[in-house]
Amino acid sequence: VTIGVARETAAGERRTALTPETCKKLVASGAEVRVERGLGVAAHFADAAYTDAGAVLVDDAPAALSGAAIVLCVRPPEVDRLQLLDPGAVLVGVLQPEADDARGEAIVTRGLVAFPLERLPRTTRAQSMDVLSSQAGMAGYKAVLIGAQLAPRFFPMLTTAAGTIRPSKVLVVGAGVAGLQAIATAKRLGAQVEGFDVRPETREQIESLGGRFLDLGVSAAGEGGYARALTDEERAEQQRRLGEHLRGIDVAVCTAAVPGRPAPKIVTAAMVAGMRPGSVIVDLAAESGGNCEATRPGETVDVDGVIVAGPLDLASMGATHASDMFARNVFNFVQLLLVEGALAPDWHDELLARTVWPARPAAERVAD
Ligand code: NAD
Repeated sequence: VTIGVARETAAGERRTALTPETCKKLVASGAEVRVERGLGVAAHFADAAYTDAGAVLVDDAPAALSGAAIVLCVRPPEVDRLQLLDPGAVLVGVLQPEADDARGEAIVTRGLVAFPLERLPRTTRAQSMDVLSSQAGMAGYKAVLIGAQLAPRFFPMLTTAAGTIRPSKVLVVGAGVAGLQAIATAKRLGAQVEGFDVRPETREQIESLGGRFLDLGVSAAGEGGYARALTDEERAEQQRRLGEHLRGIDVAVCTAAVPGRPAPKIVTAAMVAGMRPGSVIVDLAAESGGNCEATRPGETVDVDGVIVAGPLDLASMGATHASDMFARNVFNFVQLLLVEGALAPDWHDELLARTVWPARPAAERVAD
């Protein structure tokens, strides 16, 4: 089987879906791997490392992609890239086919078999392929470091000849994968850490990391281990209690999300106005609109002394390790598609059947 990987084209994207490590494994399993020159440079993987791993280096994206049976990517390829692929070619990456009509249409009209990895069910078996989790881990980690960098305070408690410094109070809003990594990271830096979420099971997870669970009296577990959107009454209750609490917080890290919807607005402009000057909000949800009303995606703004950062591409800030993890996730997924080195997807496998886009009707899956 021929596997093609081209450089990512999205602005700010530094990661790659293939590392020399996963390239070597794919080559060992009998694949021909074609890599566009410079593929891993932004993530600090040199071309020579790919050739050492058995890749065929090619000069441009068309040479990497046309004729490939499987194409790996981090972000959705542009339409002109999709046009390069052969009908029936398999595309694996974070593809968001429904977010862009032209791209979705190109996938359909071109007859591509797309596996948007963000659609993977979050089952135990899928964990090793779960790019949302692996990338959220890096995002949560970097978000805390940005908060520490912007804050005019220490995170840890210090007892010095110049007196005692009290530890910073960090609040993590949303305790999913990114939020839990944020809690762990802030804790390691010595802050007093609290977290809250609308899924009740997060209490134990937050406490196991040494954080305190902030109970805002709202519980809203949804389907598939995710949260559901709050009702108006629930939101009002959450906001009343949160607004009070934020007055004593030095750094708030916002990570709350509800699948398929814009990020819930949790921190209102009035809450920001109530925070102490010098406090910081890092809104990891900026990419999907932000959890804070004052967030401007991609910018850091000063709102009457409160610093509000809306960083984008957080996972790309740790491009080497983020790529290591992303590429292993992709490699593990590709194993589901191959039988003795040949492309032979088993449509009875629920991970493939539930991830493929456009969705296949169950009858057709069985017929295959
Ligand atoms: P996510 O990015 O969709 O959301 C982040 C967090 O925001 C979630 O914890 C959610 O509950 C929370 N949230 C939503 N609305 C909120 C609100 N109004 N106030 C406060 N918090 C709010 O979620 P995620 O991090 O990708 O994953 C969420 C869940 O999926 C977790 O339980 C995670 O452990 C689970 N998961 C399971 C597997 C697996 O078993 N294979 C893999 C990954 C994640």
